[in-house]
Amino acid sequence: MDYKTDAWVQWCPACGNFGILTALQRALAELDLPNEKVTIVSGIGCSSRMPYYVKTSNVHTLHGRPIPVAQGIKLANPDQVVIVASGDGDLLGIGAGHFVAVGRRNIDIKVLLHDNAVYGLTKGQAAPTLPLYVKTKALGQPNIQSAVNPLMLAFASGYTFIARAYAYHIDQLKEMIKAAIKHKGTSLIDILQPCPTYNDIMTKEWYEKRIYYLDKEDPSWDPNIEKPEDVKKIPKIVEKMLEWDARIPLGIFYRNTMIEPFDVRIEKIMPGYLQNPPARRVVGVNGRAL
Ligand code: SF4
Repeated sequence: MDYKTDAWVQWCPACGNFGILTALQRALAELDLPNEKVTIVSGIGCSSRMPYYVKTSNVHTLHGRPIPVAQGIKLANPDQVVIVASGDGDLLGIGAGHFVAVGRRNIDIKVLLHDNAVYGLTKGQAAPTLPLYVKTKALGQPNIQSAVNPLMLAFASGYTFIARAYAYHIDQLKEMIKAAIKHKGTSLIDILQPCPTYNDIMTKEWYEKRIYYLDKEDPSWDPNIEKPEDVKKIPKIVEKMLEWDARIPLGIFYRNTMIEPFDVRIEKIMPGYLQNPPARRVVGVNGRAL
């Protein structure tokens, strides 16, 4: 209740966004984070209404731009927990350049990718994660473009925490959000999110026939890269990131604590900068400055 607002939640019945919202609120509660110490930043899309529903210090920004806004907030407010919550169209379509650039910097922000493979807000066009030749009900013809693999794109870009979750498994998603917040570095959780209104192919039934958890299937599963010899784990990690279709793995794929986050890099080049940044201001809900 500490993280709920009074706003009416404007999503379709059974939308996967409800599960993501609940998991995020529970994760913040279990970590006992003060409301004003968390900032959620979104772009444009159904999922981008998230900042209105979580009682923290949030920004609803432009289409494709939540990541650069989140980076600015984090640099000006190093103690803030900064979370990007946006869709696959927003983050991997118009915002794809920012999605790559933030990984190269390893800034400590958490990207929650609401991945429903369609542009739900604008009536169901094909979004970047819709697989090739899939024809959802809004399309006149099957999709002619190949899907982006968000995990592989994040890995190639330098993200140091990469996970995949399922929106209707709230407890598991909550634990992944907590793990991402505890990790210091750019983090991605690709959240498979049914859109019952426009994606009539990748439905709850479609996902639940395919998904499985990496650590349940293989109790020795270890995503941690903590020392140089751990790079031997990477071929297996990449193999699992590429697995898709008949079976879809969920869980934490990759957590690398050997790569320096951005604040450490800044301190090396400009000592003391982050203790006295040029701007230390977060815009709160309804434009109020904190
Ligand atoms: Fe959710 Fe899809 Fe409805 Fe948007 S259109 S609110 S993603 S079910």
